[in-house]
Amino acid sequence: MRQFIEGLPKAELHIHIEGTLEPEHCLELANRNGIALQHNTPEAIVRSYDFNDLPSFLSAYYSGMQVLLTEQDFYDLTCRYFQKAASEGVVYAEVFFDPQAHTSRGVDFETVISGIHRAQKDARQELGIESGLIMCFLRDMSAESAMEHLHMSLPYKHWIIGVGLDSDERDNPPSKFAEVFIEARKHGFRLTMHCDVNQQDSLLHIRECLDQIGVDRIDHGVNVLEDEELCLDLVHRGIGLTVCPVSNHYVVQSFTSDEIRSLISKGVKVTVNSDDPAYFRAYINENFQVLAEEGDFSQQEIVQLTKNAFDIAWLSDDVKAVYLKKLENYVASFSSSVVI
Ligand SMILES: [Zn+2]
Repeated sequence: MRQFIEGLPKAELHIHIEGTLEPEHCLELANRNGIALQHNTPEAIVRSYDFNDLPSFLSAYYSGMQVLLTEQDFYDLTCRYFQKAASEGVVYAEVFFDPQAHTSRGVDFETVISGIHRAQKDARQELGIESGLIMCFLRDMSAESAMEHLHMSLPYKHWIIGVGLDSDERDNPPSKFAEVFIEARKHGFRLTMHCDVNQQDSLLHIRECLDQIGVDRIDHGVNVLEDEELCLDLVHRGIGLTVCPVSNHYVVQSFTSDEIRSLISKGVKVTVNSDDPAYFRAYINENFQVLAEEGDFSQQEIVQLTKNAFDIAWLSDDVKAVYLKKLENYVASFSSSVVI
């Protein structure tokens, strides 16, 4: 199974580029930029990752990214993610970035997006990985700040495929950002939002995503299983979920393999992703692997999750067909009992 997962051509749709900052790289950048860190070895940094909920994770996440200052820093960060992703069989990635977490520290929007974009171009040429960029707003900041950043992004809108919403969900419902997302849609952006696992008002937030925001996708969203009608609505509208098993484990002490299997059986387009792999110490293959171990997932189920990711990716039908053919060829070469 491990070998099967490793070779599978994959799409990753829920990955925060700032969440790929490995401890070694964080120390290198701190050194390069003359920043003093609380911990001086990669091991000490990893030991400090003591998450048990969303706020405790976010505290480490925002603290780590203070070393990112220059265009070259963002370029290097993004290149390293693509190198790792390519080594794990990722052929297409939709990558989140959090501009407000940088502009609030005095780093220009242009610096951030230029570095990421340059790395995307090089990854396409040198590694054969295609990618899209999704700009996330921080939901614990104001809707005015989100709108200001939406306007800031417009000169670069040909570099951005969609907008998302992340950070601390408590008391920050999707409806708070309704105007921002309506405006984003007018500019042609695709829409997604985080509905993290087991948050206060999770079901209400998922409902708002569907009815008030009109999202194309939901990040996490596993709690939809608690409401049959909501689940049917999701299937009816063809809205996919980008689920992150290892990330979920920090919050609910389970890789949510039962929930993922139920979502598959109900026809929800559920996918597997790594979220913030440097912090959760697991990239995409490790996320598939825990499903094989905890949930005894079959090759057929793993393939279904992979197919879903290409199906709900923000790509043209023609491009999707090319990736699905690649997936089909791989599966055929590996096993005659798995069907696509
Ligand atoms: Zn996320």
